[in-house]
Amino acid sequence: MQKKQFKAESKKLLDLMINSIYTHKEIFLRELISNASDAIDKLYFRSLTDDSVGLGKDDFEIRIDLDEENRIFKISDNGIGMTEEELENNLGTIAQSGSQAFKNENGEAEDIDIIGQFGVGFYSAFMVSDKITVESRAFGSDSAFRWTSEGADGYTVEPCAKETAGTVITLWLKEDDEEEKYSDYVTAFRVENLVKKYSDYVRYPIRMDVSRVRPVEGGEEGETETVIETETLNSMIPLWRKNKSEITKEEYQQFYQDKFYDYTEPLKVIHSKTEGLATYDALLYIPGRAPYDFYTKDYEKGLALYASGVLITEKCADLLPDYYSFVKGLVDSADLSLNISREMLQHDHQLKVIAKAIDKKITSELKTMLKKDRETYEKFFSIFGVQLKFGVYDEFGVHKEELKDLLLFYSSTEKKMVTLKEYRDRMKEDQEKIYYACGASPEKIDLLPQTDAAKAKGYEILYCTDNIDEFVLQILLEYEDKRFVNVSADDADLVSDEEKEALRAENESAKELLDFMKEAIGPEIKGVRFTGKLKNHAVCLTSEGKISLEMERVLKAMPTDSDVKAEVYLDINGDHPVAEKLKKAYETDKDTVADYARILYAQARLIGGMSVDDPVALTEMICKLL
Ligand code: ADP
Repeated sequence: MQKKQFKAESKKLLDLMINSIYTHKEIFLRELISNASDAIDKLYFRSLTDDSVGLGKDDFEIRIDLDEENRIFKISDNGIGMTEEELENNLGTIAQSGSQAFKNENGEAEDIDIIGQFGVGFYSAFMVSDKITVESRAFGSDSAFRWTSEGADGYTVEPCAKETAGTVITLWLKEDDEEEKYSDYVTAFRVENLVKKYSDYVRYPIRMDVSRVRPVEGGEEGETETVIETETLNSMIPLWRKNKSEITKEEYQQFYQDKFYDYTEPLKVIHSKTEGLATYDALLYIPGRAPYDFYTKDYEKGLALYASGVLITEKCADLLPDYYSFVKGLVDSADLSLNISREMLQHDHQLKVIAKAIDKKITSELKTMLKKDRETYEKFFSIFGVQLKFGVYDEFGVHKEELKDLLLFYSSTEKKMVTLKEYRDRMKEDQEKIYYACGASPEKIDLLPQTDAAKAKGYEILYCTDNIDEFVLQILLEYEDKRFVNVSADDADLVSDEEKEALRAENESAKELLDFMKEAIGPEIKGVRFTGKLKNHAVCLTSEGKISLEMERVLKAMPTDSDVKAEVYLDINGDHPVAEKLKKAYETDKDTVADYARILYAQARLIGGMSVDDPVALTEMICKLL
C-alpha cells in the first residue's frame, strides 16, 4: 500500500504534537469527543428531514472502549462519518481553523501554548499515541475506509469493514515516561474524570463499560461480584443551560465549590441568558472572600469559556475588565468556534461583544445589590472595594462613570459607609463642595484639626482611609457638579470672604514674624500663616495644589522613585492664645520664637499622623522652654 505524505504545514504541526512537551496532553480526549459530537450533530440534523437515516435523537451516542492490557484507547460515534476522500482531505490536511492558528506561530513555545489553550483538533491525539487508525463509513455510502498513521512520515488509506455509518478512532498509546503516564488514559477512573472535566455538557451521551463491585443479589452477607455496566459519563445538561427556576441555591453553591474550590458561600450568583448581538449563557459568582493571592501579581483573572458546551479555556482573561477581576464563572456561547487560537480569541469580535455585555451585567447587578441588600453590598465592598477604586483610577479614569456610584466612603455625620449620591443629596444649601479628609482610620480623622471648620458649618465629610482614596476623588474631580476638596486644602472655601480679608490683613501685618518662623523651620514648608479655619486646635498643616500631604506620603511609599512634593503651609489658629504669645515673644526673644516655630511644626505633623525627623532635638527644645 502506498504511503502518502501529509501536506507540509500539517507535517510541521504533527511534529509539534508528537514531540510536544506540553503538560496538558489530556486535552486530546476533549478534541476527539468534540469531533464526534460535531459528526453526530451533522447526521442528527440530516435525520430531521431525511427518514432514511433511521435514527432518533436518543439513538446517537459516543462510545469509549478501553483495553488496559494492550494500551488501546478507542472512541466511536454513529455520526455522519467520512468518505475515502474526506479521510484524505480532513486528516491529511489541517482543518482551516487549525491551520490558521498554526500560521500565527512565533516560535515553538507559542505553538505549544496554542495547542494547550485551544487544541488543534484531531492531531492532538498524536501527543499521546504512537499509532492511530480512523475507520469511517460515511452516511449514505456502502463502503468504509481505514486511515492509518504512525506519525509524521505519512499515512495510508485502505478499505475496511464497517456495518453502519460513523467513525471509530483507535489510539495505541505511547510508552510511559518520566513526564507522562500515558497508560492512565486507558484506566476508567482517569477517563471518567476527564470527560467530567472537559466534556460533561456534550449533548450526546458518552458511554463506557465500567466494572463495578456490588453485593450479589440473594447471595451471602458480604458476598460481592464484579459486573460490567455501561455507564453514561457525562451529565449532558449544563447547569447554566437549565432554567433558573429549576436550580436550587445548593446546586449553584455546589457547582461553585466543585469548579472554583472555594468553600465560602459566594455573595452573589449571576445567572443570565442573553440573546441579541451576542447569544450566550453566563454563570457568574461574586466570591465571599478574596483569594489569598488576589492582591498580588500572581492572581489571574478570567472566566471559563465554552463554545456550545465544550470547554475552550479555563481562564479567558479578556472576558473580564480588571476592576471585576474577582468575579468567577463561565460563559458559554454558540457564536464561537472551538478551534480558535489565543491570538484570534483576542481579536474575536463576538468575544468583545460578550465581554462588554458581561461588564454591564455585573455593574447593574452590583447596583441592584447596593440598593436592595445594603448589608451584603457593604460586605462585598469591604472585600473588593479597593479593586473598584483602582478601576476608577486606572487608565486615566475612563471607567469612572461606570464605577462611581458603586463607591462607598465613611461619613463623618452618618458614622457609616455612604455613597456619593447619598452625600450629594444631603448637602446643605450653602454647601458648594464635597469635603473629604484623609487619615488611617475614621477615629483618627475625627481628631484632625483640619476637619474643625467643615464640622463647625455642619458639613458632612467623607473619610478617606485607603491609600488610593484621595487619588480616586481627584480623578473623579466632581460629583453632580460639586467638586471634591480636601478639607485642609486652601481652596476648601470654609472661610468667609470677610474673614479672609481680616486674615490677609493680619498676615500682612505679621509678615516679618511669619517669615522668620518659616526660616526657622526650613525648606520643608512653603510658609507660615494665620488661619481662621481652625476652631479648637492651635495648628495644622495645609497643602496647596494638586498633591496633598497624604498623597505625597503614598507616592513616597511606592517602589518607584518619586520626588513629587506637596506644597505645605503651617497654619496657626489666629484666635488661639498661641498667636498672641508668638507676636509678643517676637518683640523680646527671637530665639524662643524659632524654637516655638519648630515645636509647632512638629506638633502639626504629629496631629496629622506623620513622624518628626528628630524626636530627641524636639524633646530637648520642649524641656528648655519648660
Ligand atoms: P476541526 O474539528 O477543527 O475541523 P480536526 O483536525 O479535529 O479539525 O478535524 C478535521 C476534520 O475531520 C473535521 O472538520 C471533520 O470534518 C473531520 N472529522 C474529525 N473527526 C471526525 C469524526 N469523528 N467523524 C466525522 N468527521 C470527523
